Amino acid sequence: MIRVFLGIGTNLGDRERNLQEACAALSQRLEILKESSIYQTAPWGYLDQPAFLNQVIEAQTALSSLNLLDFLKQTEKQLGRQANFRYGPRLIDLDILFYGNRIIQTPRLQVPHPRLMERAFVLIPLAEIAPEFVHPQNKQTVAQLLAALPDLGGVQKCG
Ligand code: ADP
Ligand code: MG
Repeated sequence: MIRVFLGIGTNLGDRERNLQEACAALSQRLEILKESSIYQTAPWGYLDQPAFLNQVIEAQTALSSLNLLDFLKQTEKQLGRQANFRYGPRLIDLDILFYGNRIIQTPRLQVPHPRLMERAFVLIPLAEIAPEFVHPQNKQTVAQLLAALPDLGGVQKCG
């Protein structure tokens, strides 16, 4: 079993329900250990779209990294995500943030997620559940990565 962290984002439809359905679908193949609070984030990249809800989960799984990626893509489809443009609106986005301490650099999969260090909407929920987790490439803890962010970018805890 390997410990993984996944980022979940949604900005279309019933966003709270999308998060719940994503977690329910993920629990078919992963044992969810922790869930962060839900955070609302102003849109990023392409600005003319609804606000995102973001959440990070910690889980353990027996899936290989590529099988996990396939499972996430399949789950996105099952939850009704349509092909769309990068950084555009989406029903559900499931990203692998960390796969244990593994460093993976292939065309289909890069882990740790290459943009997690610059994303407050990832680091804030990640720091809530795993502040001491060490980034395997730059060796800083999640709490240190968060403290180094210049801008917390309009991320608000919900509820
Ligand atoms: P994004 O999440 O960047 O907005 P997509 O969800 O459409 O965009 O993902 C585009 C591609 O990114 C996926 O098809 C996948 O092959 C690739 N990818 C590379 N690394 C990762 C990762 N760590 N987690 C999820 N997808 C990844
Ligand atoms: Mg994605």
